[in-house]
Amino acid sequence: MEKKNLLIVVSGPAGSGKGTVLRELLKMSDEFAISVSATTRTPRPGEVDGVNYFYITREEFEENIKKDTLIEYTEYCGNYYGTLNDKVRKMLEDKNVILEIEVEGAMNVKKKFPESVLILLLPPDYKTLEARLRGRGTEPDDVIRERLAQSRNEVAHFDKYDYVVINQNEGAYDAALDILNITKSEIKRTSRRLEVKEKFYE
Ligand code: 5GP
Repeated sequence: MEKKNLLIVVSGPAGSGKGTVLRELLKMSDEFAISVSATTRTPRPGEVDGVNYFYITREEFEENIKKDTLIEYTEYCGNYYGTLNDKVRKMLEDKNVILEIEVEGAMNVKKKFPESVLILLLPPDYKTLEARLRGRGTEPDDVIRERLAQSRNEVAHFDKYDYVVINQNEGAYDAALDILNITKSEIKRTSRRLEVKEKFYE
């Protein structure tokens, strides 16, 4: 029986703990792969080219747009971010693929791939979000303010997502487990299991 892997979008404001939750998910199950996006943003300390992102110039990015090699892309806080079509399709042959992307990209993926699953990851409340973002200490104050404003914009799209997962303070494990359980249920959705029905009419 052909196994159809899922395209899963995980969005969440900076400070929602997406990175930690997704790392935890990869520890729990080997059935997931995380897509590596292209970006024109400069790497943060500790980030590695080809692991966190493919860091490219604006010219290179615009060349990708022209050549239509991106599933979706957006300009976010002054930088381009985009999902590379070929790499995602290749990964989908073996695994459920997670796109960790912002809300505009998420909406575009859903339009192109209605069978994709959209998950919004949120901290318990706005105060926690702000504390986490400031605690990270990797960005100057104006960038933090911009990202906080952006986070409210993301939450405004709440009802366009299929699922909402709350990442409690210490709870990266629980949030990862929620995503695993959502995936397990989604795979059993009737619209994805038509081959089961067909077996009764062979
Ligand atoms: P950061 O600069 O913090 O790594 O990412 C900023 C935002 O861009 C995050 O919300 C992240 O999920 C989003 N992002 C990362 N890669 C992509 C992508 O390929 N497409 C879109 N639309 N958003 C992305």
